[in-house]
Amino acid sequence: MKNKIPYGKHFIDSDDIEAVVNILKNKNLTQGDEVEYFEKAVAKYVNAKYAVVFSSWTAGLHVANIAIGIKEGDEVITSPITFVATPNSTLYCNAKPVFSDINADTVNLCVDTLEETLKKHPNAKAIIPVHFSGLPCEMEKISSLARQYNLSIIEDAAHALGASYEDGSMVGCCKYSDITGFSFHPVKSIATGEGGMITTNNKKIYENLLRLRSHGINKKSDNLVNKTLAYTDGKPNPWYYEMQQLGFNYRITDIQCALGISQLKKLPKFLKKRRELVEKYDESFSGMKNIVPIQVNQRNGSSNHLYVVRINFKKANISRMEFMNSLIEKNIYTQVHYMPIVMHPYYRSLGYTSSNLEKALKYYEECISLPLFYSLTTSDQSRVIAFVKEHIS
Ligand SMILES: *Cc1c(COP(=O)(O)O)cnc(C)c1O
Repeated sequence: MKNKIPYGKHFIDSDDIEAVVNILKNKNLTQGDEVEYFEKAVAKYVNAKYAVVFSSWTAGLHVANIAIGIKEGDEVITSPITFVATPNSTLYCNAKPVFSDINADTVNLCVDTLEETLKKHPNAKAIIPVHFSGLPCEMEKISSLARQYNLSIIEDAAHALGASYEDGSMVGCCKYSDITGFSFHPVKSIATGEGGMITTNNKKIYENLLRLRSHGINKKSDNLVNKTLAYTDGKPNPWYYEMQQLGFNYRITDIQCALGISQLKKLPKFLKKRRELVEKYDESFSGMKNIVPIQVNQRNGSSNHLYVVRINFKKANISRMEFMNSLIEKNIYTQVHYMPIVMHPYYRSLGYTSSNLEKALKYYEECISLPLFYSLTTSDQSRVIAFVKEHIS
């Protein structure tokens, strides 16, 4: 049997291992210096003022909704083609996600449809655009709509660390949004095991996120609320801390942050390799009638997180199940990103339907993600291409 080719995976080298071992041997396991070093490194990389790292981007998304003031009954607009964590974060706040259809070429929110959705939803308080597969959404247009309708923006950049907008600025710089967030799950651009990072240029949001990450307890820079308990004869009591709002334990460890810092150094070469692999796939599938790669003319600026093709399975005379299974027989693993959120039983139970999401539904019928990761070798990629072509013309 040939070696297993997953659809995505992380890459760890001896520098990463050394960075982690160094923490285990010498440092705090959690809440030491590495957390801040990692935050500073990412903030600098994307050119944002502030960064706050979390135990996951799901945790980050939850407190991002809180930090922009999402409350019970509010509506938050997002894409139906995303991971469940995106809209779940809004449900955590007892607010209501609203799904607006995608653009068939980019698989990102369609801006024209978004405007119609906004007109129909006067209770909307925020938009969460998802940079699908690392291709930035049309943020200039989305942010101008947000201004017009008085909405906040959280960019879900789980796929998009290292991506840049058309004007060259980095995703994460928050020039078009209040908050941007990244994920460091092992299939994402860089890995910390679990982990996520928020960037923002807003000091109030930044300080709020720091408290929300750790139980809502005051940070050193915060004014203490109860002066009587906090001071004795005008001097601060050394034991004293206070919980000022309801927060969580969404902290990440120093062990993970040390890994993140080490991984971040390799990001440029990760991105370069992904781009090369994507171009090889594009070349190999160009001109084929039943396979159309998404985002094919938009590789510049993308972090190329996934390699998604749309296959007309009916015309190709094979079902997606048969196709995926015959690849699995060759030890090649593919995945579907994503089933529209509204099709999940839980969302169905909340009353969501697929109406007005025709493009998302059609996309779901046809999409499949082929293996794409830094350590995918030329010969393994050729194997994938050959087997795909064997089944689909
Ligand atoms: C991975 C992912 C998340 C969640 O990130 P975690 O760090 O795994 O919690 C959210 N949104 C999208 C689009 C993702 O791909």
